[in-house]
Amino acid sequence: MRDQILVLDTLQRIDMELSQLEKNLREYPEKISDFEKELETSKQNLENFNNKKSEVLMNKSRIEQEIAHNEEMIKKAEQKLFEIKTHKEYEALQKEIAEAKRKNSDLEEKLLEEMEKIESLESRISKEEEEFASKESEYGEQITAFKEKIEELNSLYKPKKEEKEKIVSNLSADILPIYERIKKRNGQVLALAKNEVCTGCYMSIPPQLFNEVLTLARLIQCPNCQKFLYCEEEMKSEAKTG
Ligand SMILES: [Zn+2]
Repeated sequence: MRDQILVLDTLQRIDMELSQLEKNLREYPEKISDFEKELETSKQNLENFNNKKSEVLMNKSRIEQEIAHNEEMIKKAEQKLFEIKTHKEYEALQKEIAEAKRKNSDLEEKLLEEMEKIESLESRISKEEEEFASKESEYGEQITAFKEKIEELNSLYKPKKEEKEKIVSNLSADILPIYERIKKRNGQVLALAKNEVCTGCYMSIPPQLFNEVLTLARLIQCPNCQKFLYCEEEMKSEAKTG
């Protein structure tokens, strides 16, 4: 195999590995941040329900105080009834008592509503707590796993870069820009030439050019897709040597 084809083949493989590493190093932190965001949302949700519950509890206690206050007033008024001398005063006080009792009966209804709210909030909160706890443990594990992967990928990245530099140093200086250009356009840089056809783009290769590929004399690019052409013979010799 022409050594430059072999170098290009190796370079292409290393570049693919590097781009996969780069892709993962870009994506894994995003995944971690997605998990963290979701956990934060879940936590916020739970907090909202707890805040709502505190609000309702305060409401409930305010109503209870009002009821107690009214009851106290009714008790005093009822005692006062015995000391009253005039019919007019008696009637006025009775009216007051009746009014306070009516208010309390309304308040009791409200109190019941608040208690129902608390009950349903509590069952919702315990559900949210369960959900949050399971997310926290599941996502926590995922986040740890991704962090470990990132660390591992980071440790692989620099040696891989150095390996690439070593390979590039074996490449003729004029070939590297061509390689970069083909890689950018096609992804694949090498193409097998077989039966006068480039298997990279399936266009015919002029016979004279195809013969040059077979003689392994120099690097040949496909006139159509620009990929570097190699023949089956070269791959066999590579298999023998490597
Ligand atoms: Zn081609």
